[in-house]
Amino acid sequence: MSALFGNYGKRRAQIVKGQGTVVEDSAGKQYLDFTSGIAVASLGHAHPAIVQALQEQSEKLWHISNLFEIPGQEKVAQKLIANTHFAHAFFCNSGAEANEAAIKLARKHTGKHHIVTFEKSFHGRTFGAMSATGQGKIHNGFGPLVEKFTILPFNDVAALEAAIDDSVAAIMLEMIQGEGGVNCVSAEFAAAIAKACADKGILLIVDEVQTGIGRTGTRYAYEQTILKPHIMTLAKGLGGGFPVGAMLGTTELHATFSPGTHGTTFGGNPLAMNVAQAILDHVFEPVFLQQVQEASAYFVAQLKAHLPSSYTIQGQGLLLGIGCGDIEVASYIAAAEEKGLLLVGAGPNVIRLLPPLTVSKEEIDKAVAILKTILH
Ligand SMILES: *Cc1c(COP(=O)(O)O)cnc(C)c1O
Repeated sequence: MSALFGNYGKRRAQIVKGQGTVVEDSAGKQYLDFTSGIAVASLGHAHPAIVQALQEQSEKLWHISNLFEIPGQEKVAQKLIANTHFAHAFFCNSGAEANEAAIKLARKHTGKHHIVTFEKSFHGRTFGAMSATGQGKIHNGFGPLVEKFTILPFNDVAALEAAIDDSVAAIMLEMIQGEGGVNCVSAEFAAAIAKACADKGILLIVDEVQTGIGRTGTRYAYEQTILKPHIMTLAKGLGGGFPVGAMLGTTELHATFSPGTHGTTFGGNPLAMNVAQAILDHVFEPVFLQQVQEASAYFVAQLKAHLPSSYTIQGQGLLLGIGCGDIEVASYIAAAEEKGLLLVGAGPNVIRLLPPLTVSKEEIDKAVAILKTILH
């Protein structure tokens, strides 16, 4: 029997190394990794720039505590907020932690504790983030949850308008629901959220843990909408595999997180910051983002050309989904793995496609060829 808890359903392949989009298992079999460790390996595996960033810092200083100023944090924060309406960053170690910080900041700043979130959302597994998550299967057995989250239907303007009142501290949502089925926020819904926030003085928290850092073809997904979140959370793609999370906020929130109000031992340590800096130096270059958009357009066109029209292609950038109607996708994902293509689901009926942002057209062609043999 395993010495590990059984909380993860394990995949068959035991991956031991990777280079770019290709990973290799312990038997030497190669796979195209169209999961990127769930939107994490943004520059692919073992990218020389991030290997070097980690090696160089590892010879200087690993850890010093947030009691001291960490110069890398200031640099990464500047890079994250440059040309945005955000003014400040807080660094932590994961997406859930970034969302905990966001929930705490919104509560303390408004003096209210009612937060609106949405069905099929995913915000993480810690108590606050889990309570914000709109999926019963994530809550089962762990109650009582943190008060007071109201979970509304997603993209439902009427339900939003009916639920909004002066008690609401914040609305929290993903620009594309990643775990929940690759569901994009509609333009109409974005407009209704913007209006609700403006009318009632509600804070908008956008969870870009999965959509941020170039994944949708812009630095952040909200930039493609009319929304201007007060708080945004980041993690997955920011460290390329080194654990790091971040919360960005607008200038009026600064005083709320005064000394001693919130913190973390490991968050924003020099190793994480040097790696994140190297990732951002690549991903935030306009030409790089342009290439992500081109790869996305090519991928979508190939999927539409080669798959039967009964499948729907969803998402943006390189956070794409193949909607399979009522069909459960687990057996498709297993079949693809067998044929050398790693995929992950998004809910029971959607296949999620999350290649590294550096994926080539040839790799997309190979993936589509495998998908074609499975989805017919
Ligand atoms: C993965 C994810 C999280 C949780 O991040 P962890 O690093 O696993 O805690 C939160 N929100 C979204 C949108 C995610 O995709």
